[in-house]
Amino acid sequence: MKSRERSAWGWGWADRFPAAEERRALGELVTALLGTPGEAPREPCEAAALIVSPSRLAVPAPLAPFTSDGDDLRARRTHGRAYPDLIHGFRGDFDRAPDLVARPRDEGEIERALAFCEEAGVACIPYGGGTSVAGGVATDVGGRYAGVLSLDLGALDRVREVDPVSRAARIQAGATGPRLEAQLAPHNLSLRHYPQSFEFSTLGGWIATRAGGHYATLYTHIDDLVESVRMVTPRGLWQSRRLPASGAGPSPDRLALGSEGIFGVITEAWVRVVERPRHRARASVSFDEWEAAVDAVRALAQSGLHPTNCRLLDRTEALLHRVSAEGAHVLLLAFESADHPLQPWMARALEIAAAHKGRCPRGPQHSESVSRGDAAAADEKWRAAFFDGPYLQTALVSLGVLADTFETACTWDRFPALHAGVRAATEEALRTTGGAGVVSCRFSHVYPDGPAPYYTFLGRTRFGRELEDWSRVKQAASDAILALGGTITHHHAVGRTHRSHYERERPAPFAAALAAAKRALDPAWVMNPNVLLPVEA
Ligand SMILES: Cc1cc2nc3c(=O)[nH]c(=O)nc-3n(C[C@H](O)[C@H](O)[C@H](O)COP(=O)(O)OP(=O)(O)OC[C@H]3O[C@@H](n4cnc5c(N)ncnc54)[C@H](O)[C@@H]3O)c2cc1C
Repeated sequence: MKSRERSAWGWGWADRFPAAEERRALGELVTALLGTPGEAPREPCEAAALIVSPSRLAVPAPLAPFTSDGDDLRARRTHGRAYPDLIHGFRGDFDRAPDLVARPRDEGEIERALAFCEEAGVACIPYGGGTSVAGGVATDVGGRYAGVLSLDLGALDRVREVDPVSRAARIQAGATGPRLEAQLAPHNLSLRHYPQSFEFSTLGGWIATRAGGHYATLYTHIDDLVESVRMVTPRGLWQSRRLPASGAGPSPDRLALGSEGIFGVITEAWVRVVERPRHRARASVSFDEWEAAVDAVRALAQSGLHPTNCRLLDRTEALLHRVSAEGAHVLLLAFESADHPLQPWMARALEIAAAHKGRCPRGPQHSESVSRGDAAAADEKWRAAFFDGPYLQTALVSLGVLADTFETACTWDRFPALHAGVRAATEEALRTTGGAGVVSCRFSHVYPDGPAPYYTFLGRTRFGRELEDWSRVKQAASDAILALGGTITHHHAVGRTHRSHYERERPAPFAAALAAAKRALDPAWVMNPNVLLPVEA
């Protein structure tokens, strides 16, 4: 049986790229939203016409059992899945393919690959699921290197050990969300970390980028679920101890989290797992005024109730995501527990929302799954809706629509000014590029001291001009975020795309300390050059 193929250029499975008819209907919806007609749809470049740069390196003998210089594999490791990546892929442009793709089967093979990179002056880019939206796996390393080796963790995808007493599991870094959840399910355990890229991204990628999952409060980043990390660096093995907490100086895990491959290759981690939830409570609350909705969410975030879901969608975002809200802003609230029914929590949350003029005409919905199977089925339904979204962005590329998202976090006191300024700057940039555009907002995560606003923008562009137009809008949005007190990223990572803004927000002595740590672990500076830090001379 032929295995299902991932798209070489777009999001997800190749067979899920929407058919021409579906894309035409999507185009009509965008025209209605933007008020101007767009380009005639185009088809992605045929596989036979792809431009793949020739490899500059021969496969070295010690790496031969697990390394390839084949064009197809190299092409598939060229791009992440940000909007510019989709554009390059749609055009068939794989001109910056890595020279070699290594797929090690154990840590010994990783050590061999790193030793080769050091000796040969080859840049090494750790590759998990390749879903980076920040240029994290792009081969743009500058001219100092003899070539680029993409180090694919895909063969390391096992749950190695489960500790049911401490509720923790030792999992290899290359395991994707479905792979690790399928192996935890027989233990009735779950990591419950669901980024939207869950299906294809990996535990190692989540740790390396400090990914944000579906918990909207409390355990928002993978950081909160990591107990210890194991990483192979060019200067030896980095293994932190398993501890529930420790006050013993700066934490080694804190340095590994968000390291984006610049120190070494994360090979496995102990992570905190939970029993699968049995009790669920959901409610959808509508608000006529955005400010009242924001105040309600702030009160909820500061209430100590810790809802699992607390996503506020503005009315445009609700429309784009087909959430029924009758033109209102909508707050999606949910609680989950493996232990107890949730009526009191939901009742108090709805009281808080009502105090800010929130309406919940359908009332809350409570459910209890009686078996493991039921819990899995409920998860499946929720996942299906959440994971369909990215296929639409891929389809919009074929319609000549500028479509992307960006995100940040700021304190509540700064949010009104940040929101107004970021929207205005992005809308203005969209107007000057394509003549029309919309910007919508949702809160992906919320904290007692501030929200993480997540923006989606849609605009017109022309085939051939997408990258230029995207850069202009992205720059305007990023500049406004920084100027108005936000961070350049709450969970999408720094990569190569956000580096210049990251440099502006971090303290200079910290940058020097980070560079010193890199020099100690990676003196040849071969690990993911140009991510987080510029290449040193
Ligand atoms: C449609 C879509 C939805 C997304 N939704 C979310 C979301 O909800 N939340 C979120 O946080 N992000 C999201 N992202 C961004 C992306 O999925 C995350 O950054 C994710 O953590 C990347 O994981 P990955 O395994 O694909 O890593 P990759 O893309 O392969 O790599 C990302 C970075 O981590 C490094 N890296 C990967 N594996 C390792 C390793 N084992 N050791 C050392 N370094 C490594 C790479 O070198 C690179 O710098 C989304 C992306 C897309 C395209």
